[in-house]
Amino acid sequence: MWFVKEPYHGVQCDMVCDLVEIYSERKVNRDEIIPITLIKTLQINRLERSVELDLTSFFQEEGVDVFSEVSLDALSDEDRDAVVHFFPTAQSVIVFGREVPVPVYRMPPKEKTREMVRIAEALDTTAIRLAALLKAEQVPARPVPLYLPVKMVNGRIQGVVRLKQVAAAGGLGSLGRNTVLLTPRFGPRLLLSGVVSGRRVQESRQVKSSAGRKEAPLCKGCGRCIRTCPAGALGPEGVDAFRCRDVSAWVPPILVPAAKWILGRSIVQKCMAPLAPWFARRATMPCSLCVTGCPNFSGDEGKGQASPPQSPH
Ligand code: SF4
Ligand code: SF4
Repeated sequence: MWFVKEPYHGVQCDMVCDLVEIYSERKVNRDEIIPITLIKTLQINRLERSVELDLTSFFQEEGVDVFSEVSLDALSDEDRDAVVHFFPTAQSVIVFGREVPVPVYRMPPKEKTREMVRIAEALDTTAIRLAALLKAEQVPARPVPLYLPVKMVNGRIQGVVRLKQVAAAGGLGSLGRNTVLLTPRFGPRLLLSGVVSGRRVQESRQVKSSAGRKEAPLCKGCGRCIRTCPAGALGPEGVDAFRCRDVSAWVPPILVPAAKWILGRSIVQKCMAPLAPWFARRATMPCSLCVTGCPNFSGDEGKGQASPPQSPH
């Protein structure tokens, strides 16, 4: 397809601006015909520059500690398929997180849970705002939901987009045997959110000022998290959420089959989604032992702070 310089009838205003840039800066002969692909490339490059600048300042204003923009190419086949299923025009995932400060783990379970939900919901609000910002820049985007929907895979709960795996692929950290993302700065104390976007990135990249460092995996395989779990919820297959005390406090074993049935049906989940925040704000997570017991618990940022109590029970 070709775009002819003159006349400008039917040409969008920004395309005229693009022509001016091409003619003036690239010294194209005024009689030349400009391929529309060149104009599109110019527009995409400009958009990417502007969005990148916005991302840095946007996250600073939102109080986000780390972020990474991860190309779909950097993900495993399983995660790439899940992202595309969630958002068919996806090209990348912007994953970001905030620290749960060490003192939060010293709080009584109810207060600790309330603080974690507050941080998680603030991240969720940031994701919604970011998606709106990207859409305003003509970049298709969809925030990853905080609560529902989720997927059931082999009888286990999984996010529709596995943000921990995406964050690891983006260089923010690595997964430990406790199935938590371990980061150099915050250890396992990072809560995550994300936005799937139609913005193409050349490679997964971190913004140096805010992202974690790419280093050797922090999990040394000591197995302390597995041994310390009072419910035997951790194993080689990952975490069995229904055995974890934070979930079993709300879903007793007798109700697990019904809960699995509900979570296996997207229509039922859709109906329940508006209720999820109400439940989360009233929940109490009595256990964090697989996080607090990890030798990486403090991370670089938490060093010098006293260790939290080891048993909330
Ligand atoms: S939070 Fe507690 S019960 Fe749940 S997996 Fe971790 S150690 Fe086990
Ligand atoms: S407690 Fe040990 S095995 Fe578990 S995540 Fe931490 S370093 Fe890895």
